[in-house]
Amino acid sequence: MSNLFDFKGNEEFGYSQPPPIEDPQRVKASIPTTLLRKERAQWPTASEPELVRHYTWLSRRNFGIDTGFYPLGSCTMKHNPRLNERIVQLAGMNDIHPLAPENHLQGLMAIFYEMQDMLAHCSGMDSVTLQPVAGAQGEFTAIRCIQEYHRTIGEEHRDKVIVPDSAHGTNPASAAMCGYSIIEIPSGDDGRLDLDALRAVVGDDTAAMMITNPSTLGVFEPDIAEAASIVHEAGGQMYYDGANFNAIIGRTNPGLMGFDAVHYNLHKTFSQPHGGGGPGSGPIGVKEHLAKFLPSPLVSRRPSEEGEIGVGDGWWYEWEEPENTIGKVQQWHGNAGAVVRSWALYRRYGRELTTMSEHAVLNANYLRYKIMNPSPEIRDKIHAMPADGCPADVVKHEFTLSMTPLVEAVGVNGKDVAKRLLDYGYMAPTLYFPMIVPECLMIEPTETESKEELDRFAENFHAVLSEDPEILTTAPHNTDVKRVDEVWAARNLILRYEH
Ligand SMILES: *Cc1c(COP(=O)(O)O)cnc(C)c1O
Repeated sequence: MSNLFDFKGNEEFGYSQPPPIEDPQRVKASIPTTLLRKERAQWPTASEPELVRHYTWLSRRNFGIDTGFYPLGSCTMKHNPRLNERIVQLAGMNDIHPLAPENHLQGLMAIFYEMQDMLAHCSGMDSVTLQPVAGAQGEFTAIRCIQEYHRTIGEEHRDKVIVPDSAHGTNPASAAMCGYSIIEIPSGDDGRLDLDALRAVVGDDTAAMMITNPSTLGVFEPDIAEAASIVHEAGGQMYYDGANFNAIIGRTNPGLMGFDAVHYNLHKTFSQPHGGGGPGSGPIGVKEHLAKFLPSPLVSRRPSEEGEIGVGDGWWYEWEEPENTIGKVQQWHGNAGAVVRSWALYRRYGRELTTMSEHAVLNANYLRYKIMNPSPEIRDKIHAMPADGCPADVVKHEFTLSMTPLVEAVGVNGKDVAKRLLDYGYMAPTLYFPMIVPECLMIEPTETESKEELDRFAENFHAVLSEDPEILTTAPHNTDVKRVDEVWAARNLILRYEH
């Protein structure tokens, strides 16, 4: 290859490069020969129409919330208003540099301030940082703050974190990454917290308890305040996994339940495209006694002074670093774009966010009722039953079904049902989680689905259960990719594009 930028030959390129800013030969001369390619890179070549077709084709092979119902429990896959995208793309948001000085960032900082304020308010916390970029990172950050708190008050010998067996895997993982050992406590037969089991394990080695409410079974824990006082009396801290905040926002909050720290999954509760790994945002909120350990960014404000031209609301916004900060957990200002999208949703709906959680709960209960009460003609064909011990009055925004009776009757398992649902044009529900429900399917419809969509899903769900087992065990049949061998795929990962 004689020229770095010389794309000659009969290949076609459906894109154009800006002209090089430097003489290509000089660039090439500055690269050590050992690092130069010996042969030309095997980039795919295509004309513009071919390129457009390729990506459109790929997008149609993909399933997303914009193509169909996505009842993936615990993940809160709801509609992402396009208005959020418009707002985050405004030049004042999109084109700013993270190193820009405060007087260039007043608008964004005002948004950050409002977001901190709103999150603190709706969770009953005193202080919020927007830095962590995922729920899991929020957990790690908050547990580190709790760890520093214990250290500061001479309680560093506390080395255990308690989690219920229904917890999301990130809870024990985050605590373990902070060096804690994990104590798992079993749930009661009704899927709820077993207070005697909790009493049996708390002690002066308890650093914290991590729990989500409603739990991953979608069940609200009415004894949560009692659990909090058991842990507090032993000197431990209470950590709220806020991934299920969509179920309670506006109706109650973790502060009222007795929690000291909480994370929010902005990409779940406050809508933004997620799945496939991001970008998300997992701010944390804490009570006063933990606030001085938070990482920045924290935005504070004071009345603006003469000559300070801010956003015109009479305030001047400033970055603030808490006194005993545990340090940065993420570069720059976290995932600022994710914060702006969630702020857009909050500014659009405000107090109506209460209606959001009410509808999320209503939809889940409606769908659960529809699935559990099929028409008489097919009742005897339905072998799936709900997980035992989920009284209807405590089910919130999601619910679990156990496919064990189906396995016993016809040898069809939860995975087969999930795969067959793909043929009907649905994303499969969350499968085999929480692990305490055997053959578990976990369904979260969210507030953005209509009654008609829920009726259709229940009808199709019943249709799947009444099909010939052979059809289910070999499903999916209508998708581009048929049933894959997950073990083979995991052992033989193909990560390279081969021309
Ligand atoms: C999604 C989820 C988490 C982790 O959040 P990420 O943003 O995916 O890191 C933690 N707990 C529960 C219950 C969740 O559903």
